[in-house]
Amino acid sequence: MKPFEYKRPADTYEAVAVLTEHSDAVFLAGGSNLVDHLKLGITEPGLVVDIGRLDLTEVEALDDGGLRIGAMVRNSEAANDPRVRRDYPMLSRALLSGASGQLRNAATMGGNLLQRTRCVYFQDKTTPCNKRDPGSGCSAIDGYTRYHAILGASPTCVATHPSDMAVALTALDATIIVLGHRGERRIPISDLYRLPGEHPERDTVLERDDLITALELPPPHAGRSTYRKLRDRASYAFALVSVAAEIDVDASGPVPVIREAAIALGGVAHAPWRAHRAEAVLRGAEATRETFQRAADAELEAAEPLEGNAFKIPMARGAITTVLAELTDASAAEPDTEESHE
Ligand SMILES: Cc1cc2nc3c(=O)[nH]c(=O)nc-3n(C[C@H](O)[C@H](O)[C@H](O)COP(=O)(O)OP(=O)(O)OC[C@H]3O[C@@H](n4cnc5c(N)ncnc54)[C@H](O)[C@@H]3O)c2cc1C
Ligand code: SF4
Repeated sequence: MKPFEYKRPADTYEAVAVLTEHSDAVFLAGGSNLVDHLKLGITEPGLVVDIGRLDLTEVEALDDGGLRIGAMVRNSEAANDPRVRRDYPMLSRALLSGASGQLRNAATMGGNLLQRTRCVYFQDKTTPCNKRDPGSGCSAIDGYTRYHAILGASPTCVATHPSDMAVALTALDATIIVLGHRGERRIPISDLYRLPGEHPERDTVLERDDLITALELPPPHAGRSTYRKLRDRASYAFALVSVAAEIDVDASGPVPVIREAAIALGGVAHAPWRAHRAEAVLRGAEATRETFQRAADAELEAAEPLEGNAFKIPMARGAITTVLAELTDASAAEPDTEESHE
């Protein structure tokens, strides 16, 4: 590991100012992603700015009925907050499906949003990777692509975004609160992440000295929601495909009709993937398995699989259809507890 200086700022303004002044400084939160990268030499900062003691640890009810979660709230704490479990079960489940209990106790909300891709070539300094070393090439395109993108990829990068939590936040239309050198701004999560395009080295629209201070959830919607993660092992594995879904059905007539639906997919793109095409098919349609299949097909029509990941298309189709069918039958989806895994 390359030696670096270490600083612990007293407040958020100082934290931002230090990063503004030092072009080779990075924030350290729970360290569960960054420290690995320091050890692997993927990130070689001159200064590590520890935000671990900043006062960003509250989960607060908002006047509009929503919830504000501080950036330094631990993943396990957010997942088990009674308000999150009751009003945003999809988020609770997504958090609990990530990593292990120990890691969730260390990982923070801000750090989870900004964790880097798990592309094996990104993590191997000896291989070309446009995200790690712009212009060097992409080793994955003709390599091991089981975990890679089928939607929105570019010839420069086919990596997927790793956060489960961010997929649920995308379906929930969360807002990310950021403090930068020009002051505070609010970014809808749908605008936070970038597709790779020509610049896969940039995961988000954030500037280097932007500090995430909190995220805000809108008031809970009507309807049922859940998060389903399909992966190679029952726990401690990143998603091959995941689905965050919320659906509200009017069951007053002879045939239940979908009033509103929100769907986001994980494991399929460089960013959490909002399934706008599927949602358009669902709105106003009858809540039947056939409708759910049509919705999934509409979303996946644009999929462009690589040699090693064509299985993700039927997998995503099945996951979307099954989750929507489960959410619209009589059984309610309860959030998991800390010890259980989807
Ligand atoms: C073995 C293993 C398995 C895992 N499995 C999963 C999984 O299945 N699903 C999943 O979603 N995640 C998984 N993770 C990832 C884990 O959730 C992340 O490492 C964690 O959420 C990152 O949070 P952190 O607080 O430790 O961030 P850090 O490691 O401290 O930081 C991560 C990045 O975010 C930046 N950062 C942190 N906080 C802020 C902030 N407030 N403002 C601006 N920048 C900030 C840092 O500079 C750094 O670039 C796994 C990790 C491991 C090691
Ligand atoms: S997919 Fe992206 S992260 Fe992976 S090797 Fe290619 S450029 Fe690097």
